Amino acid sequence: MGQAEADAASRAILSGWVTQGPEVAAFEREFAAVVGAPHACAVSNCTTGLHLALLAVGVGPGDEVITVSHSFIATANVIRHCGAVPVFVDIEAPGYNLDPALLGGAVSPRTKAILAVHQVGMPCDLRAILEFARPRGLPVVEDAACAIGSEILWDGRWEKIGRPHGDVACFSFHPRKLVSTGDGGMITTANAAWDQKFRLWRQHGMSVPDTVRHGSKQVVFEDYVEVGFNYRLTDVQAAMGREQLKRLPAMIARRREQAARYRELLTGIAGLGLPTEPAWARTNWQSFGVRLPAGAKQRGVMQALLDAGISTRRGVMCSHREPAYAKAPWRAGSTLVESERAQDEVVILPLFHDMAEADQVRVADALKAALAT
Ligand SMILES: *Cc1c(COP(=O)(O)O)cnc(C)c1O
Repeated sequence: MGQAEADAASRAILSGWVTQGPEVAAFEREFAAVVGAPHACAVSNCTTGLHLALLAVGVGPGDEVITVSHSFIATANVIRHCGAVPVFVDIEAPGYNLDPALLGGAVSPRTKAILAVHQVGMPCDLRAILEFARPRGLPVVEDAACAIGSEILWDGRWEKIGRPHGDVACFSFHPRKLVSTGDGGMITTANAAWDQKFRLWRQHGMSVPDTVRHGSKQVVFEDYVEVGFNYRLTDVQAAMGREQLKRLPAMIARRREQAARYRELLTGIAGLGLPTEPAWARTNWQSFGVRLPAGAKQRGVMQALLDAGISTRRGVMCSHREPAYAKAPWRAGSTLVESERAQDEVVILPLFHDMAEADQVRVADALKAALAT
């Protein structure tokens, strides 16, 4: 973030309207145009967006939702927020995304939806997931928290994640993601009725939004037609987000170069697994995770890199291994061997769009040295 974001925030603050208002409306229009979605509704973060998405497709107490354990814990938590039960299926080893071949073994009469994650920006195999879901009448919600700007080959054309190809897609603007508003989220859908629901629910179920009452020449009284939530984004955040969106194409172009450079630098390391894009997917390269050679100790390698001044992260967590899920109801829809292996064997290397090439060389050299000991 730079002066442009600071100026935008300042503009919103000085405008006299700081919560959800005209900046949010403009951010929604611009976001919808970027991903090619008919509707985009801003919310306070991706977790609240996913909560509303699951409610809209009808997930309720006692239902089951099939998803991956190998994801940030919010993916599983939102299913619990609906009173439903997560059914975890394993990932496919090379791509770290939901393995569609396992859906058949996970489905039950209680299955209400599939929550498909585009993990760290890499599109999951939506076509195969939809081929399974559509004939069974199962809605597909996309956890696109990390996938802004990622693309999928659809009927011979490259399309942005979020059109959406499933029924609803949810994005995050947490600082870990490419586009940030501090905290924030966006829900996209082609379903106008659901979009109206999201707008109602995010603002306490209020029939007439405060922006409309404020602008009215007549006295208007609002009703509270459903039990809603406060899942609003503020205009200060939306103003920042609009500036961030302008930077997105350049960010992704730079990250693609950096990912290619890492590939060149790391190809020579025996046994190291590099991330691969399937022919039908283009990731935004939010993260560049490498699978360590057999026998290498993840914590030791990460510590050696940290000692060299290089900060890394372990592979994506598995929700089913966390204390919060020790007793909470969930069901394994398959073995979770690949999920656990990915968490334990992957190291996520530094990648950010203003990272210098010399720093990439330093990371590669330090990783080589750490693996040689
Ligand atoms: C970051 C993330 C979330 C949560 O997003 P918030 O905006 O922080 O609520 C959910 N799912 C995945 C896969 C994520 O990476």
